[in-house]
Amino acid sequence: MPKCAKCNKVITKKSPGLQCGRCNKWMHGECVALSHDQLTALHSTEADWKCRGCVGSSKQKRMSVILPDPEEEDITDTDSITAGVSLDSNSQKILATVLSTIRHEIRDSIQEELKRTLKFYSDKIDDFQIKIDNYEEKIKTIENQYTLANLPSPP
Ligand SMILES: [Zn+2]
Ligand SMILES: [Zn+2]
Repeated sequence: MPKCAKCNKVITKKSPGLQCGRCNKWMHGECVALSHDQLTALHSTEADWKCRGCVGSSKQKRMSVILPDPEEEDITDTDSITAGVSLDSNSQKILATVLSTIRHEIRDSIQEELKRTLKFYSDKIDDFQIKIDNYEEKIKTIENQYTLANLPSPP
């Protein structure tokens, strides 16, 4: 008898539960706030159920990139670069502008690259999902044909 990962009590017919399709842990329907009807529905459709921890972790995986904040204050420190070099205030201003522009451009290009990479993987995941759906359709069709072919022929 499987034990519930939440309350550590045995899962029985009286207190039914279900198994996470990802981490394979068993949990009582009650312990994951599923009604008996929802449990029955999940059983009959054989839908893949995931526990909260697994739903959360798969979401986190796709959202784990922290993008730099575009609103962040620009700190342009020319002192360290111009140390030992005497520049008039006009040159200092120009230098500060150039540095700030370079920083912005680097930051923007990093952000763009990150976004593109994220989008690429998201698209890949969507592609796989579509392929899996297609296969499921095909399997269903084959199953149906098989069932029809094996029906007892009328006398
Ligand atoms: Zn439980
Ligand atoms: Zn799980």
